[in-house]
Amino acid sequence: MRAARSALDSALEFLLPPVCASCDRLVSDRTEALVCGLCWARLPLLPAPRCERCGHPSDQYDCRWCALRPPFVRAARSVCWAMPGTALAIVHALKYSGWTRVAEGMGTRMARLAFPDDVRRERTALVPVPLARTRMRERGYNQSGLLAAQIALRWKIPVWDDVVIRGRATETQTRLTPEQRRRNVSSAFTVAPSVGARLRGAHVLLVDDVVTTAATLNACATALFDGGARIISYVTFGRAPSVGDRIETTGDLLNGNSRRH
Ligand SMILES: [Zn+2]
Ligand SMILES: [Zn+2]
Repeated sequence: MRAARSALDSALEFLLPPVCASCDRLVSDRTEALVCGLCWARLPLLPAPRCERCGHPSDQYDCRWCALRPPFVRAARSVCWAMPGTALAIVHALKYSGWTRVAEGMGTRMARLAFPDDVRRERTALVPVPLARTRMRERGYNQSGLLAAQIALRWKIPVWDDVVIRGRATETQTRLTPEQRRRNVSSAFTVAPSVGARLRGAHVLLVDDVVTTAATLNACATALFDGGARIISYVTFGRAPSVGDRIETTGDLLNGNSRRH
């Protein structure tokens, strides 16, 4: 049903006058890839200074966010805060509304993120966080896979979307506590037995649309590490702020733009 609606949305996209997927304003130019320039400009970017390892806004020596990453996670980078307004409207357009071409603008910005030199030298492949099979059937595409494909074009490295398998369908995470989330995903990922040789010694970049508690990414990274990968880094479009984060932004907080939130 949802897949059919996505297909219908995609078809309508070409028939109706082009509107921005984030703010609903008419866009003058269809080539703007579905989100208007104003919305891209007011993404709530993560403020500096940021932690060299996890990319989280932090001027402290001991980063709270880093403490939650397994030791084999080298670096994490995100484009913007995942918060109500432009950022989440864009994420939801890709994830739930079938506006798959939004992935191009998101992936372009993810590919521009500054990773440490060693990560840039070593990165072997991009691995999108897989969807459970039932959800994949419903949606018809994996939003993380679309983002990985966009980044791969720009970084000129392959996408390995056959490496990690998501076992049982995890329940929607939004209503769970962090501890419940961790348990919910910890056994959900396995590495396909046939890919051991390819994975051995690799520095893999895990791709997801949004990182919240990082339980999903950490579980996926652990599966990759157990499967032979040497180092894992993360790249996401959005990052959920946690209590105490500095959310300095010139974007949404000032103009209160929101369609879906
Ligand atoms: Zn807009
Ligand atoms: Zn950190």
